Amino acid sequence: MRVVEIHQQPSEEVVEIVCDRCGAKENTKDMTGTDVASFQHTFGYLSKRDTDKINFDLCENCLIEILDKSGVKYSYIEYGSCYEPGDKDIEDGG
Ligand SMILES: [Zn+2]
Repeated sequence: MRVVEIHQQPSEEVVEIVCDRCGAKENTKDMTGTDVASFQHTFGYLSKRDTDKINFDLCENCLIEILDKSGVKYSYIEYGSCYEPGDKDIEDGG
């Protein structure tokens, strides 16, 4: 006869993401709250931040505000291609 102990491995699940700028929250279980974007970056070896690894989350309001005010140039990604903001023909689907 074998006596068995059932071990449950601890697990973790992200249930909430908080904007690191304004504190807005997204509940990831019921998808309520604001949309939050997550960012990760590892600075290069011998760069100004020599191999520092950072991550942060931004709600959509903060992300849009930063993009609008910073002058960061970005592209939309859709179906494997990129296009620039304001390209109305592509944004409108024709
Ligand atoms: Zn925010």
